[in-house]
Amino acid sequence: MVARIIQLLVCLYLILPAHAQLVLDEHASDIFLTDQNSSFGIDAGDSHYYWIETKIQKNTTSDFLIECLAPQLKDIKAYVLTESNDTIRSFVTGANYPFGQRDLLHKNFVFPLNMEPGKYTIRIGVRDIQPDELYFKIRSDHFFTEYAISEYFFLGCYYGVLLIVLLYNLFLYIKGAMRVHILYVLYIIGCIALSVREDGMAYQYVFSYFPVFNYIFNIYLAKPIFLSTFIIYSVSFLEIRSYWPTIKKLLLYLLAAYILILLTSIALPGVAILSEYIFFSVFIIVYITSFFIARRGNFFAYYFFAGFSMVMLSVLLNLLRAFNIIPSTIFTVYSFNYGIILEVIIFSIALADKIRIIQEEKEQNKEALIVQLSENDLLQQRLIIELKEKKDLQDKVNRELEDKVRARTIELQTANEKLEAFAKETDRLNSELDRFNYSLQKEIKAEKVSRIYNQEVTYEEFLKTYPDDDDTCLKVIQQLKWPEGFVCRKCENTKASTMPVWYRKKCSKCGAIESITANTLFHHLKFPLNKAFYLTYVEFSNIKQTDEALSDLIDLRKPTIWAFRKKVEERMGEKNYLKATNWKDIVLDQI
Ligand SMILES: [Zn+2]
Repeated sequence: MVARIIQLLVCLYLILPAHAQLVLDEHASDIFLTDQNSSFGIDAGDSHYYWIETKIQKNTTSDFLIECLAPQLKDIKAYVLTESNDTIRSFVTGANYPFGQRDLLHKNFVFPLNMEPGKYTIRIGVRDIQPDELYFKIRSDHFFTEYAISEYFFLGCYYGVLLIVLLYNLFLYIKGAMRVHILYVLYIIGCIALSVREDGMAYQYVFSYFPVFNYIFNIYLAKPIFLSTFIIYSVSFLEIRSYWPTIKKLLLYLLAAYILILLTSIALPGVAILSEYIFFSVFIIVYITSFFIARRGNFFAYYFFAGFSMVMLSVLLNLLRAFNIIPSTIFTVYSFNYGIILEVIIFSIALADKIRIIQEEKEQNKEALIVQLSENDLLQQRLIIELKEKKDLQDKVNRELEDKVRARTIELQTANEKLEAFAKETDRLNSELDRFNYSLQKEIKAEKVSRIYNQEVTYEEFLKTYPDDDDTCLKVIQQLKWPEGFVCRKCENTKASTMPVWYRKKCSKCGAIESITANTLFHHLKFPLNKAFYLTYVEFSNIKQTDEALSDLIDLRKPTIWAFRKKVEERMGEKNYLKATNWKDIVLDQI
């Protein structure tokens, strides 16, 4: 026993290739093993096969068989020889041969030993032995039948549970679309892939007619599928990236290395052993990581750790069984399956718990959101009311303002109308006043003139003052125009030269020429100046003389007289000449 445990520990440490053995089942009490040898290439001429040779003594007529517990073995040869070395039975089978060619259609390799009691030699050859203890068991037909039925029943339950969990999580994923569910589904697929490889169900029920596919699945697919789905699921569930990103990277590198080595092993079969190291190291790393993540306060990592402990325990049990430290029963042989089932149950509980908490958080968030929304709603309503109040107030102010403006406008209009009326009235009164003033002045003037000149100045007398030459008259006008001397109308210059015709003045500065009669009553006059003087005197002094009489007197045509008298009369009516008292006062144009 102690030697076995030491061998196990060494094997655990190095994963040594162990040797194969033919053993008697506990129920095979009528058969005795007498001698056992094992070596490569004994008596067979084929050094690729590992051979075990056992002598047995059969003391009963009941039928027995040999069962091989490693359904992955590619090539197995088995021979039953008599004492005289005659081969009475021979079996050639393995995972490389079509399933239908087997003697018994069972997931394991079974060699019936239905022969007479006696002594025989059994020789079994195995090619490419796995690094594991390999057992061939001699069992009675009776026990094998019972055992096989239980085994298939157990496996049916096992896969049934896994499929239920798979479908349930698939359904949850389709309904809730949470990523962790589909990762869990993938992981269960990985578990199923590894299990059907280990127990041989894949070949019996999936690839029975395709040994090549079975071979590829067993060697290159089952384990990588399990390993990759396991890494993806654990990284996601444990949130390894947020705790230790380097661990996540390490796991992915290990997965890549595993696949690379597996592919290399197609050409170099020797490197396959390295992939086993990587395979186990991944599980140990995740196992330890889950423990530390749990310690760091991730409550769900405890579930993971507990579930995974079940698998670890089952692997340990399997090893103990493989090294015959504990007996091989249906419970120990399938300890790995139990471990997986327990793990799946614990993981399911963990997942349910995780989902529950996530949903609770969601629910809380939703409630908080609803509260927030209703608060917002309330605030909005309050705001609307405030805005409405403000608008009402503004409308009121506007209305008041409009009313005031309207009232003020009416007031102003009324005032304007009154002002206009006043202005019109004032204008009317002013013009009436003007008219009144004018008639008054006229009457006063007429009276004054008649008072000053009691006697009319006759034309003969007038001619004595203003003889029949223009010189005297021009000098009179010049005196009236420029009493202080010449002033230029354009530049106000006071110096000018006198031109010979009618004393026209030329400004010494700007050269402007101005005649004496310019800007006077006599401008452009077409008859002698002294006659115009006289007519002005007559008209201004209001002396009653007809145009006809004057025409005879001063020898001018009647229309000329009428036109000039009219001109004088108009000038006398002008506002500027109201103060005139002498006919000379109206000679100059008033500007
Ligand atoms: Zn001038």
